[in-house]
Amino acid sequence: MRVVRGEVPERAQNGLTPTMVARNLFLACQCFPTQDLEVALADDAIERIEASVSEIERLNDEICIVHIRPSGPFEYRAGQFVRLFMDARTSRNYSLASVPALDEDLMMHVRRVPGGRVSGWIFDHVKPGDTVTISEAFGDCFYVRGRVGQDMLLLGTGCGLAPLYGIARDALNSGHRGRIHLYHGSRDACGLYLGEQLGRLAAVHPNFLYRPCVSEASADGYWAGTPLEVALAESPDLTGWRVYLCGNPQMVEAARMQTFLAGAGSTEIFADPFLPSGTAP
Ligand SMILES: Cc1cc2nc3c(=O)[nH]c(=O)nc-3n(C[C@H](O)[C@H](O)[C@H](O)COP(=O)(O)OP(=O)(O)OC[C@H]3O[C@@H](n4cnc5c(N)ncnc54)[C@H](O)[C@@H]3O)c2cc1C
Repeated sequence: MRVVRGEVPERAQNGLTPTMVARNLFLACQCFPTQDLEVALADDAIERIEASVSEIERLNDEICIVHIRPSGPFEYRAGQFVRLFMDARTSRNYSLASVPALDEDLMMHVRRVPGGRVSGWIFDHVKPGDTVTISEAFGDCFYVRGRVGQDMLLLGTGCGLAPLYGIARDALNSGHRGRIHLYHGSRDACGLYLGEQLGRLAAVHPNFLYRPCVSEASADGYWAGTPLEVALAESPDLTGWRVYLCGNPQMVEAARMQTFLAGAGSTEIFADPFLPSGTAP
């Protein structure tokens, strides 16, 4: 459940991930309140907010970056996702690549799925000036302040870069001093994007490493292999690391297992598999 008002006893949060604690989630079966608490179900009553589309950047035929500006205050953490409504009944989840402290607009990276209803609608119909409806922000995949020296591994495929881009910039902007290693993968170089911006970040921040990886073709300037393969070859021991995994569900599940076997603690692994709508998580 989630505490809406009041202080949740620490014991009721034992074993939860730091991001769940930051969202005021707790285990109802372990909670013996010491004061009045107002509580809700963890994902109760989705709030809907109107937002105006301020810009759409077409990076190529498959990927675009959508900038939207909520009509009122909007609380979120870089790396969380929102539900974007095409109509009252049809919605899909999109991760936020923007950072509250750095960006005025919310930013989403959208890949056109062949025959996809909502991604097709975004590409073919949504335009600057339109009003769209989004949900509040959800998800546990975000940067948690506090352990500024901890090393962080960020692995993503395709638009799985969106939350990782937000998390990396949020961490750097918060003065994170540990290593931040971001591996972005695609079958070929066409599926990789924001390389210049990420290269610039790496040039400015010595603790930030960016590796664009291609798995099915070799190309100059890219690392050969999946992001997981390249990352584990470079950092085989992940003891003490925090890990973020986003994008293709098969990659995310394989990486969850492999990074755990390489030493990352299970409560230090945060994952957002981009499951198609209607798929149980
Ligand atoms: C937590 C979360 C975060 C997400 N973040 C992003 C994001 O930042 N950017 C982004 O582009 N997408 C993201 N997605 C995926 C997104 O929510 C939609 O599933 C995707 O845009 C396809 O929706 P659609 O309506 O276009 O396709 P649909 O009409 O739902 O599906 C059309 C066909 O494509 C298949 N399909 C649907 N989704 C996928 C997929 N992801 N890969 C392969 N085949 C698929 C379906 O099975 C169906 O056969 C995220 C998903 C989750 C769960």
